[in-house]
Amino acid sequence: MRLPGLIDVHVHLREPGGTHKEDWDSGTAAALAGGFTAVLAMPNTQPPVTDAATLALALAAARSKARCDYAQYVGAGADNVETAAALAPRAAGLKMYLDQTYGPLRLDDMTAWGAHFERWPAHLPIVAHAESRTLAAVILLAALFDRPVHLAHVALREEIVLIRRAKERGLKVTCEVTPHHLFLSQADIPSLGTGRSEVRPRLATPADVQALWDNLDVIDCFATDHAPHTAAEKDGPTPPPGFPGLETALPLLLTAVEEGRMTKDELVARLATNPRRIFNLPEQPDTWIEVDPDAEYTIRAADAHTRCGWTPFEGRRVRGRVERVILRGQVAYEDGKVLAQPGAGRDLRTEAKHSQASLPQHQTNQPTTQRTNQP
Ligand SMILES: [Zn+2]
Repeated sequence: MRLPGLIDVHVHLREPGGTHKEDWDSGTAAALAGGFTAVLAMPNTQPPVTDAATLALALAAARSKARCDYAQYVGAGADNVETAAALAPRAAGLKMYLDQTYGPLRLDDMTAWGAHFERWPAHLPIVAHAESRTLAAVILLAALFDRPVHLAHVALREEIVLIRRAKERGLKVTCEVTPHHLFLSQADIPSLGTGRSEVRPRLATPADVQALWDNLDVIDCFATDHAPHTAAEKDGPTPPPGFPGLETALPLLLTAVEEGRMTKDELVARLATNPRRIFNLPEQPDTWIEVDPDAEYTIRAADAHTRCGWTPFEGRRVRGRVERVILRGQVAYEDGKVLAQPGAGRDLRTEAKHSQASLPQHQTNQPTTQRTNQP
């Protein structure tokens, strides 16, 4: 069965600063093995990507090491409103951390939210990490500034119901849900263990999980929030929150298709069509994946390409295996082996400026900045 190359709009590749967990090489190898031909990388690295110098640092690592296509987010800080807006054409989008994160990227002052909403170009995406009541607040702010906002990793019934209402009112909101919030709940914490079940947003109740399934039509994208930490870190005294997800997302979702919980078309819309539209990403020509929908197997971290060495889905039976990935006419993955070399991936924001013809109609009229000094 042939599917389009999948797009993951939410991954953490840990480079710069955390390359013992993952880097642009291992993370994009994991992406290809999972059927993803493009990933959008989050900015909470060390140092965080908040200005021209740190964006250049991240993109230099990506250019030399990425095996699949990519773009890099810029993080919204209290003091980088103008700086971030100037970087917008080269960024995957602006990421606003409004809840539950650590370090310098958490934005508490709503004045700063408004300033970013005002200055970030309206046709380029803003992604918000906003849980529960914060989600209501950011939907209101985006509406007041009349600009779209994409809501990351929605996990609760109250959140998905609110997003339904907002969409019914015509507000410009889109959202993503992770596979782990669709396939795991608080009921799995005892078997996962305390450290290994640490994730933000936290695993929710079985009723919340059911509400996500009941509101599948409200979910625009499935995004992994691939957030690798080593098994030793997860099992240590201060386990950091986050799960790997790039290599388990598609088999879990194909299994749900097999079980009649969603259709193949609904899967493709949320893993390829909608991400491309919402994030204004260019077409990847001659790019597709081939999956065997009938292959049954057990998920094992030992078979994975991510550097982190564990998965919350260890031992789970799934149906549907990625057999080949073709990226721009080249075989990038086949029979368990990543064949695309480091550096084979392209920056989709730079690429976009060379393929205006393939962009959606509403995008072709947008002003673009000239690309300068690229090799
Ligand atoms: Zn994340």
